[in-house]
Amino acid sequence: MSTADNVVDIRAADGRTIRCFDPAGREPLGTVAVDGPEAVRAAIARARAAQIGWAETDFAKRRAVLRRMIDHLLQHGPELVDIVVRDAGKTRENALVGEIWPVLEKLRWTIAKGEKWLRPEPVSSGVLVHKRARLEFHPLGVIGAIIPWNYPLQNILNPLVPALMAGNAIVIKPSEWVAWSAARVVEIAKSALVAEGQSPELVQLVQGYGETGQALIEGGIDGLVFIGSVANGQRVLTAAARALIPTVLELGGKDPLIVCDDAHLEQAAHAAMAGCFINAGQNCVACERILVFDQVYDQFAELVGGLARGLVQGDPKQGVVDVGAMVTPLQLGIVERLVQDAVAKGARVLAGGSRVMSEHGDFFAPTVLADVTPEMDIMRQETFGPVMLLCRVRDEHEAVAIANGTEFALGSAVFSKDHARARRIASRLHAGMTAINDFGGVTYMAQDLTFGGVKASGFGRMNGRDGLRSFCNVKAVLDDRLPLHFPSKVFPNKPGDFDRMLGVVRLIYGRGIKQRVSAVLELLRGRKEPRS
Ligand code: NAD
Repeated sequence: MSTADNVVDIRAADGRTIRCFDPAGREPLGTVAVDGPEAVRAAIARARAAQIGWAETDFAKRRAVLRRMIDHLLQHGPELVDIVVRDAGKTRENALVGEIWPVLEKLRWTIAKGEKWLRPEPVSSGVLVHKRARLEFHPLGVIGAIIPWNYPLQNILNPLVPALMAGNAIVIKPSEWVAWSAARVVEIAKSALVAEGQSPELVQLVQGYGETGQALIEGGIDGLVFIGSVANGQRVLTAAARALIPTVLELGGKDPLIVCDDAHLEQAAHAAMAGCFINAGQNCVACERILVFDQVYDQFAELVGGLARGLVQGDPKQGVVDVGAMVTPLQLGIVERLVQDAVAKGARVLAGGSRVMSEHGDFFAPTVLADVTPEMDIMRQETFGPVMLLCRVRDEHEAVAIANGTEFALGSAVFSKDHARARRIASRLHAGMTAINDFGGVTYMAQDLTFGGVKASGFGRMNGRDGLRSFCNVKAVLDDRLPLHFPSKVFPNKPGDFDRMLGVVRLIYGRGIKQRVSAVLELLRGRKEPRS
């Protein structure tokens, strides 16, 4: 399995198997069979058949399934933590707080608020005063979810919960890098469905590489969530465009965290530590660029440098550690290349700076680089590893310009004790999410807030009202206000109709009383022209 330079090749020669391993110990975990196009189509067909009945269920039944999921997650929490730790090399603390807890919160929120946002919503009928208008939220049908490797449990349940609540079935294609744990995670959802007398076929798992993802898009799904890299997001969107599938794209990030000269430095430093080193930095909303005001730069650098040097790294299965392994050797290579390039161009290493414990697994030391400049590759490309970049800025204008200067725009954060100033800076940041005096990833725990990006970070939303409705056909319905039935005759066009319509339009949209009064007079005059 391991090659000479310790890069693990998970793809079996025939492409039909995934060879799973633990990245913190390189211990083989087993193999997972790859699903070809036929198996993917069969999974979609099973999901579709089950969805017909599920779409008819009331919200109470759907809530009961979600409540069971909470029970099962709590009951099997320690076992799930162990599985996720082995598959992803992450700390036990992250498996609990970064994976299971956000899902529990999403379940709690969906149980509490799901019906409110999914039941028909009356809206104004505007000028159609004789009608009633409402929005209805119908399930799309079968949702496909193609997801990455950084959160093996959370990435599966994150789209699954709203998809089911909105009355859909879902077919999930996890990353090949965490294929081993996926079946057990999916089992949690399936067992909750069975316990409530619903069909487990509503949730399908298909395994494989990019080809399996493509087969899913081409297999006849009705909606798609893709969470992953920009390059694959573009490939996925091309395929989804051919099949005309509504798509939510959650792509990469390069989140800025701005530390103003009046920030509470310790607060900002600990937020930056969390934002950079939680899950070994393998977070789409990691704080990839720390922009620090000149006046406090040296003090801040000393603070975070010391904190980072104090982090304990190792195999999380052997004892309590702060930072675990990287999930894939490919990402480790990217991190190493970007760090080496930055150092060659003048960045100063305050902590870490290289791969470590290579004989055991895929580890990169928690790293802090100072004096990083916006021109360096590492300030533009996603690092997705345990690396904190410190960039000196003169003032808030420069901070905002640098913050907005990448192709990405996912999360962001600003630290200042002057709240008006913090809000002013926050409002100027190009991002899908901004946290004030906290790191951007924390927004996820406020499930009323939407989650998603702009620019190269993608489009469409997860979480909150809009996230739930991403899984719906938002249907516009115009209904009778009164039980009156008379024909609204458009034809034939009669002499004078045009002038009457002109008068009506001027009456409604005219500026001020004068224009409207003259519109009424025109209406009363009712000029006649002959019908040809
Ligand atoms: P990736 O793009 O390599 O893979 C994501 C998924 O797409 C995997 O399941 C993979 O098998 C599949 N895939 C690959 N090629 C495909 C193709 N041609 N057609 C269909 N499916 C294909 O991403 P990754 O390396 O697994 O994850 C890391 C990336 O995910 C980072 O860029 C990170 O920022 C991003 N991410 C974003 C969010 C978010 O919410 N915005 C969350 C987590 C991760």
